[in-house]
This record gives sequence, C-alpha cells and structure tokens, in this order.
Amino acid sequence: MIRYTLYICLFTILFTSCRNDPDEVIISPELQPYFDLFQEEGQKRGVDVDFTVTPIEGRVANLFDSNVNGWCDTKEDKPHEIIIDDSFWNGASNFDKEFIIMHELGHCYLNLGHNDAVDGDGNCISIMHSSTESCVFPYNQETRDDYLDELFN
Ligand SMILES: [Zn+2]
Repeated sequence: MIRYTLYICLFTILFTSCRNDPDEVIISPELQPYFDLFQEEGQKRGVDVDFTVTPIEGRVANLFDSNVNGWCDTKEDKPHEIIIDDSFWNGASNFDKEFIIMHELGHCYLNLGHNDAVDGDGNCISIMHSSTESCVFPYNQETRDDYLDELFN
C-alpha cells in the first residue's frame, strides 16, 4: 500500500505539481541540470546564485502563443516561475536548452530586461536579446563563454 501511494505521488509530481508542502519549490527534472548550470556559471564569474534565497520554479508546458518559447512569470509573494514551451523543448538542442534557461533566468533571477544591441557583424551582443529577428545569435561552444560573461557582468 505504501509503495502504491509512493508511485502515485511520484507520478503526480512528474506530470502536475502535487505539493504536500506549499513552500516547496518545484523545478521539473528536465530543467534542473540547466538551473544548476546557471548557478555554476554565475559562481565562476563571482555572482552568488542562491536559489534557496531567491527560489525560482520551472516547468515545461504548452505555451499557446507559438512565438514564445519560454517566459518568466513574475509573481508577488511567491517564487517567480519559468515556463518553457513543450514543443520547443522537445525539439531543442542542448545549446538551445541552455540558452533559453540562461535567458529566462536572466529575467527571473537577475531581473534583466532585453538587450538587442549588435556588434559590427550584426551578431547579438547579449543572451538577453528579444528575438533572433533583432540580431544573429550564434550560441555554441566557441561563443558561450563570452555570452555568459556578458550575462553575469
Ligand atoms: Zn526575454
């Protein structure tokens, strides 16, 4: 019986948000590694990212506006929440996933707005650009360090 109940609860945690403790901060398991990465990359650059002090929730769900891949839902008196569109997430590369979580945590955790500045080649200078219609955004192994430096500085 106990095992049965545990399965039900695990299932519910994965697919909805069964919360026994209303203060529990929910980050869905597929987003967690990228939240950890944000913390790690911030720490490397002298930014103390502490989700116990500033909790942020995160989940993958259907965002019905097809132009939006993710957003930061700011809430009063409750943790802000990052919601990533499921169809985007399911087709995203590792760099796409890293980018979207870094960008949304830029809004949700660092309180940054958008920055559509470009360099001489028309490349976005910031991970916080508003869309790839504003500038070219080559986020890859060679460029990610510079973009992350810009994000945390
Ligand atoms: Zn944004």
